[in-house]
Amino acid sequence: MARPSYKRILLKVSGEVLMGDQPFGIDLGTVGRVADEVMACAAAGAQIALVIGGGNIFRGLAGAARGMDRVSADHMGIMATVMNALAMQGVLNAKGADARVLSAIAMPSVCETYAPAKGRHHLEQGRIVICAAGTGLPFFTTDTGAALRAAELQCEALLKGTSVDGVYSADPKTDPSARRFETITFSEILRRDLRIMDPAAIALARDNGIPVVVFSIRKPGAVRDVLNGTGLFTTVTKD
Ligand code: UDP
Repeated sequence: MARPSYKRILLKVSGEVLMGDQPFGIDLGTVGRVADEVMACAAAGAQIALVIGGGNIFRGLAGAARGMDRVSADHMGIMATVMNALAMQGVLNAKGADARVLSAIAMPSVCETYAPAKGRHHLEQGRIVICAAGTGLPFFTTDTGAALRAAELQCEALLKGTSVDGVYSADPKTDPSARRFETITFSEILRRDLRIMDPAAIALARDNGIPVVVFSIRKPGAVRDVLNGTGLFTTVTKD
């Protein structure tokens, strides 16, 4: 792999991606495939922090819709992100990488507690940092957690790995005239109401000048392609 275009990145992987073809939960084969990609990019010289969602296990809004109180439901969602982070750490370490989970909610017998300086130190040492528990607060999402960690860890870009290969003018699954943007500004995303991330995440990335690269992580080699500037993706930039 060529020298990556970004030296330090934050990779957001939605929990849904880790389900693979299963209807629920963690598919370790898929975790292994994502881990291989992350390790290939790290071997090429990129410093990588990961934020993993929890939607493959539990979403707070779904719990609240079934009558739970929102705060407890979101705490369950936060715990789901920790489970995914531990699965990724285990697989990365088994493959020979040095990966560390840093959780926004302290659980010292399970993993390290997140602090920005600790995260930056691990990255500088060449370790893969897995930021767990989102922001640590209910009513937020892991997208917002990813934008926050990207800013705190001084990442040059936030790579958002999804099931779609970029940002489209309309839903490509239902509208054949939908076209994919190569680049688009944060303002245009908000003006067109293209919901690639929640507004809090967009505001954090925009205000801190962190480009967001949207790509399909289901395609093998996608992270490497994004870092090499090849493949399909959309870069969301400041105006
Ligand atoms: N969550 C939260 N605060 C955060 C991050 C996550 O309360 O800072 C909870 C929330 O309930 C959310 C769940 O964790 O539904 C899983 O996160 P998310 O929906 O962002 O995961 P993804 O869709 O990326 O898999």
